Amino acid sequence: MFNALVIEQKDDNQVVSIQELDESNLPAEDVVVNVGYSSLNYKDGLAITGAGRIVRQFPMIPGIDLCGEVSESKDSRYQVGDNVILTGWGVGEGHWGGMAQKASLKADWLVPLPATLSPEKAMTIGTAGLTAMLCVQALENYGITPDNGEILVTGASGGVGSTAIVLLAALGYEVAAVTGRPSNEDYLKSLGAKRIVLRSEFEDKAKPLEKQFWAGAVDTVGSNLLAKVIAQTHYNGAVAACGLAGGFDLPSTVMPFILRNVALLGVDSVMCPYEKRVQAWQRLSELLPGSYFEQASTTVGLKDVPELADAIIKGKVTGRTLIKL
Ligand code: NDP
Repeated sequence: MFNALVIEQKDDNQVVSIQELDESNLPAEDVVVNVGYSSLNYKDGLAITGAGRIVRQFPMIPGIDLCGEVSESKDSRYQVGDNVILTGWGVGEGHWGGMAQKASLKADWLVPLPATLSPEKAMTIGTAGLTAMLCVQALENYGITPDNGEILVTGASGGVGSTAIVLLAALGYEVAAVTGRPSNEDYLKSLGAKRIVLRSEFEDKAKPLEKQFWAGAVDTVGSNLLAKVIAQTHYNGAVAACGLAGGFDLPSTVMPFILRNVALLGVDSVMCPYEKRVQAWQRLSELLPGSYFEQASTTVGLKDVPELADAIIKGKVTGRTLIKL
């Protein structure tokens, strides 16, 4: 038997409860994992509250991230006792996810836990951290270097934003952080942001071209804020866009692209191929300082998740939330 957070649908409403399930209920897959930690991401917030059409079948165990120890394996790549990480691949959306003490998963979805990371540290990073690393790599691959100028990170207090700040600072970039929460200024500076820009400065409608401030940007917000960031990006600059915390629209024009050679780089972590994932996890394990794991995370139990799910979609969670199973 194992405990799990279960989302059920009753009379068109979602009902969330902690249930004790029998292992025979698990989907039949290649590898069964004793989950040590999961984490709370924005997408989990959408799934658990029902605010987004994330869950594709009921009952569903949410949790797009998990880390734990293999307890059964039909795949030669993984042996009993190996520590593995799972992020993305539609787990917690269409396949039972990480907010349970057990998970049954396809071997192709797994990544071995890097030797220098504990399960707790891996889940402090989670999907949010992996996505932040992929955004930073997108800027690097495009040729944006620390001497090109300031990099802007939006949604800075969130999981992706906070990790992007730490990674960029570790790589020697000068980081400016956009936040809607001025009270988080000291926290964001302690992560490595050189200066804070208030979200209110991005509220007026984006003009086709604005004064050029940013050599590059990591955007987790979308909508008018992203349109303004693109309009404020330097000639030859690039914006890595991965999120929609402020909306999925993009009220922009082609002007920054055709007159300033600005690039909009799309970033997805969910279907990221294995080799790229392993490389990103390796870099995360090398780049993130010890202070990141202390400053940017809070650990909770399954019972706390519904309330925090509501808070994350309201933009009230700071940093990363670990769920101990
Ligand atoms: P969080 O909720 O942890 O962080 C989002 C942050 O955005 C908040 O902390 C807040 O920061 C800011 N924010 C919240 N609401 C608004 C708003 N209405 N307008 C402007 N800013 C807002 O989420 P995550 O960091 O986990 O994810 C961020 C985004 O990235 C989400 O949209 C998520 O779906 C997406 N994502 C995409 C992935 C991919 O593979 N493409 C993977 C992971 C996440 P502050 O208070 O500092 O302004």
